[in-house]
Amino acid sequence: MSAVKEVFSILAARAEEAIPVRDCDYTDKATGLLICGKCRSPKQCRPFPDSNFAVYCLCDCMKANDDAMRERLRQNQIEQRRTICFGSSDLIRATFADDDGKAASLTETCKAFSERVTGDSSRDWLLLWGDCGTGKSFMAACIANAAIDAGMTARFITVSEIEQQLWNSPDKAAVYDEMNHTGLLVIDDFGCERRTEYMDEIKFNLIDGRLRSGKPCVITTNLMLNDFAAPADLTQKRIVSRMFERVTTFQVKGEDRRFAALKKRAARTD
Ligand SMILES: [Zn+2]
Repeated sequence: MSAVKEVFSILAARAEEAIPVRDCDYTDKATGLLICGKCRSPKQCRPFPDSNFAVYCLCDCMKANDDAMRERLRQNQIEQRRTICFGSSDLIRATFADDDGKAASLTETCKAFSERVTGDSSRDWLLLWGDCGTGKSFMAACIANAAIDAGMTARFITVSEIEQQLWNSPDKAAVYDEMNHTGLLVIDDFGCERRTEYMDEIKFNLIDGRLRSGKPCVITTNLMLNDFAAPADLTQKRIVSRMFERVTTFQVKGEDRRFAALKKRAARTD
């Protein structure tokens, strides 16, 4: 037996163990191959056209089961990533499908950003700034969910939450590492945290580390662009100048629309 056929014999023996032969299975008289009694497709194939040598393979119904299991595992992983990203936030279910479409240019900007991030491992940063309740967090969550659906990891977090994690963790570097390595980082409500030297340090480490990682980031803030243009002190200036090395800014205007669509959906399913 040739070396190739010997390898195939070993693989065939393994396949035979993995593929159960059921009572309803039968041998096709014309080809001599084993046929699945359930889906009537072959459970054996011949890898060499000039030989009768047959190996076991997945029939159509086993392939379908296999695909379904892979899909379930993929969906489980996606859901786990969503929970890691959002925790218990209502925004966990925010998707572009829930967007009420009232701010077309905002939607367009966020969708285009999302496509770049999920499409070609973009290094882009997006800063959504404007008044409270204009839908910045909602849209940032839509971007994060789209990234997760596309197979990326993401984190949606505030600076205060990172401070909590640092406080609770014996390994501070690991907390920053996670923020640096996640596929997409969303820093929500940037600037709403209390101003102390310690918090400024966290913000600088976060922005600086993320820029160095070369990965995309979305920042939402109620601060006005003027606040960024005229930082209060040297520390703020350091943070802002680092952030503006890569960020594209977008002013979000309008009424409170964050949870309207989610509430409407919840009402429909009640
Ligand atoms: Zn079958």
